[in-house]
Amino acid sequence: MIVENVLAPNPGIYTGPGTNTYLVADRGEIAVLDAGPTIDRHLLAIVEAIGDRQPVAVIATHTHADHAPLSNPLALRLGVPVHGYQPGPAFEPDLRVRDGQEIAVGGVALEAVYTPGHASDHLCFRLGGRLFTGDHIMGGSTVVMEDAAAYLESLYRVQALGVDRLEPGHGAPMDDAGRVIADYIDHRLAREREIIDAVGAGATTIDAVVDAVYSLVPPDLREAATHQVIVQMIKLKADGEVRFSAGAVGPSTMVELIAES
Ligand SMILES: [Zn+2]
Repeated sequence: MIVENVLAPNPGIYTGPGTNTYLVADRGEIAVLDAGPTIDRHLLAIVEAIGDRQPVAVIATHTHADHAPLSNPLALRLGVPVHGYQPGPAFEPDLRVRDGQEIAVGGVALEAVYTPGHASDHLCFRLGGRLFTGDHIMGGSTVVMEDAAAYLESLYRVQALGVDRLEPGHGAPMDDAGRVIADYIDHRLAREREIIDAVGAGATTIDAVVDAVYSLVPPDLREAATHQVIVQMIKLKADGEVRFSAGAVGPSTMVELIAES
């Protein structure tokens, strides 16, 4: 069994060097994981990398624009089915993959691990001691969350798998997976604590919390930092740590701690 990476030509602040399109090959068969964005020369690079091996599947970890949209055009070209959790923008899976389901490639299998949080339709895939993490865990950058409670839960899920190596959707592979995952969990819990402390120290709005917790964030990432605080604040509200007014949560939303009794 071998794993190859065809880097998509889409570098950026959220994509690092670009999206990693993984090829998992065994006994002459090959599966493509995260075809990436619809860029013609990336499709050609993938087809060329496959060579004379027999493609069996195109699989998407989640439906974000930098991971999934090339899946259908590539699968059409290769004559194989598209696997994914659910349809999304420019993404229509032929087969809906659920937690624990296996996709066979030669004599090995990719096992789906449902990991919502970064996206509600996110799957990681386990291959022996490796885990393809998509955007659940990235090489060298913080993951933007859609749901902070689900995200933390999914980190505990992948921690329990006990894998050795992480193959992320962006950035370099990471050995010592246990330490990396533990660091991600610690980072999330530390951010929660910083948010609670910021509110305790007098930050009365989401914006003031962003100032306190993400003071070193460059201006072009301010919006992303605000988003992170909002989703973490929603989790802290559900946890009974903070309260804020009803309605859409935004930068000017007032927040306060719920006093422990
Ligand atoms: Zn993503």
